[in-house]
Amino acid sequence: MTKSEALFERAVKRIPGGVNSPVRAYGAIGEAPRFIDRADGCHIYDVDGNCYIDYIDSWGPMILGHNFPEIRESVVKACEKGLSFGCATEIEVEMAEFICENIPHIHMIRMVNSGTEAVMSAVRAARGFTGKNKIIKFAGCYHGHSDAMLVSAGSGVMTSGVPDSAGVPKGCTEDTMTAVYNDLQSVRLLMEQAQGQVAAVIVEPVGANMGVVAPKEGFLEGLRHLCDEYQALLIFDEVITGFRLAFGGAAEYFKVKPDLVTYGKIIGAGMPVGAYGGKKEIMEMVSPVGKVYQAGTLSGNPIAMAAGLTQLKYLRSHPEVYVRLEEKGDTLYTGMKDILKEKGLRYQLNHIASLGSLFFTEQEVTDYTSAKTSDTEAFAAYFKAMLKMGIHLAPSQFEAMFLSNAHTDDVIEETLEAVKKYF
Ligand SMILES: *Cc1c(COP(=O)(O)O)cnc(C)c1O
Repeated sequence: MTKSEALFERAVKRIPGGVNSPVRAYGAIGEAPRFIDRADGCHIYDVDGNCYIDYIDSWGPMILGHNFPEIRESVVKACEKGLSFGCATEIEVEMAEFICENIPHIHMIRMVNSGTEAVMSAVRAARGFTGKNKIIKFAGCYHGHSDAMLVSAGSGVMTSGVPDSAGVPKGCTEDTMTAVYNDLQSVRLLMEQAQGQVAAVIVEPVGANMGVVAPKEGFLEGLRHLCDEYQALLIFDEVITGFRLAFGGAAEYFKVKPDLVTYGKIIGAGMPVGAYGGKKEIMEMVSPVGKVYQAGTLSGNPIAMAAGLTQLKYLRSHPEVYVRLEEKGDTLYTGMKDILKEKGLRYQLNHIASLGSLFFTEQEVTDYTSAKTSDTEAFAAYFKAMLKMGIHLAPSQFEAMFLSNAHTDDVIEETLEAVKKYF
């Protein structure tokens, strides 16, 4: 038995499923998950001493690679002053100023502790600001695990959400409508049916939780127009895309202005941080200025802020990181495409910048329904073989590959060799 297997045996007795977040359990794979001991750059090491090239990157935060020296040092330095005060600190002001000064559509921002919290709070602010209750989300987009966002994704448009989880009362999802990603007509239909009662449309500007699905040309602009036409707010959930596609996230990349933005992942550089921000008049609805209540004992925690701000400042002062990430993405993903073509396989490879997904389907993947045509057993076999060859992919067909700036050309080449060997 490996150390990972032994740990998993102990873990399942005391932690539901042995893990503190479901996808880590390798449920779709049918093996014990690897327990990780440490990571450095683009490599991750498990407790049995195996080394892998890591394409999970903690699900995105490690855009500069694991254990980045400047970030680690900023955390150690902050720790020396104490872990938390529950009082206002200078670094929170610096963080807020830095983001607002560098991202034009964000005038005010509030720190929270996760992406889930950011979305939950942004939706509440949108409802408080507009005085309306309905929310439109898209099938296949993930916005964390707050009650209102946990609606089951059917194959079509749904005017009233059905809970996708036990423990979520129907009342909590009744005001969540579900549209089809990349289908503006489905949004217009829901806007009409809601008769002016839509507070906000929330979207992952690049879908990255059904595998990677980029917006079709005009989709995000179309959402902007529809929101203006029906006086609803547009919320970009940039928990993955923020500071990844560009410093200003998908909004900058696609030049579409949302009213509110949610962040997570990269903003904390591996510490538990989320944030939501946007137009001043909306953010001024939030307590203690306004009547939308939202709070957090550890929000804006000084250690987390030190890590996050160091990463953001590094990204801002090294714009070449984004150029390199595009290049690396191109090399890896077009390389994979070429291999598939060479082998006569018609599996779909979607990618944009540093994000990519190999779907085990021959259908073009543009939304949740087409993503679902993937052969998940074929994915599991591929995942296991890649892991054996030292490549650490997300253990699910419906998660993205995350490239970091620490992935070198050699490492990408090594990955392509493994892909070639497998197919
Ligand atoms: C990860 C994710 C979330 C949830 O963030 P947590 O920090 O896991 O709560 C929300 N939205 C998107 C787009 C995400 O990828």
